[in-house]
Amino acid sequence: MKIRLAAYLQPDSIVDGEGIRTVVWTQGCPHHCPGCHNASTWDFNEGALVDVEDVISELKKIKNQDGITLSGGDPVCQSDACYEISKAAHEMGLNVWCYTGYTYETMLSNPKMRRLLDQIDVLVDGKFVQEEKSYDIYFRGSRNQRIIDVPKSLEQQKIVLVEKYMKDKDYNETYQKPDYLFI
Ligand code: SF4
Repeated sequence: MKIRLAAYLQPDSIVDGEGIRTVVWTQGCPHHCPGCHNASTWDFNEGALVDVEDVISELKKIKNQDGITLSGGDPVCQSDACYEISKAAHEMGLNVWCYTGYTYETMLSNPKMRRLLDQIDVLVDGKFVQEEKSYDIYFRGSRNQRIIDVPKSLEQQKIVLVEKYMKDKDYNETYQKPDYLFI
């Protein structure tokens, strides 16, 4: 099985989910959100087509990671390949975060996307909405997006959010947000 990637695997990310993560940058996204910072990943004919087995072999070589993050592009457009990579990641003891422009509800109603949910621990769902963009939120670009605990949501048959990351960032007394950087 092949997967179209936008870039090499990126280890040691601390901004694409909790802990230290290897990002799998998938190529191709149908959502075309205004203000997307990754427009070069939209085209489904760009990037490089690689064997899923090769991606898994490369992942095995990367040490000291907490998990992988499926990003892009929209990884859910390549559900079967992402399922295999995520399953292998779990077998390596890594957790799986996934970013998508689709909603959790849409994924539930599509058999291929639904299958992928079985291998995702945390889903950051929904399109990027420029009017709701914020620098004060964790691991999301805009406030409409949700950080969803997928196993709990599937088990309880309702959306269970990762509440600690749905709160605004806590700028404490020792670190004050310099307003001039955020205008
Ligand atoms: S879903 Fe993500 S990658 Fe796709 S256009 Fe929107 S922000 Fe960009």
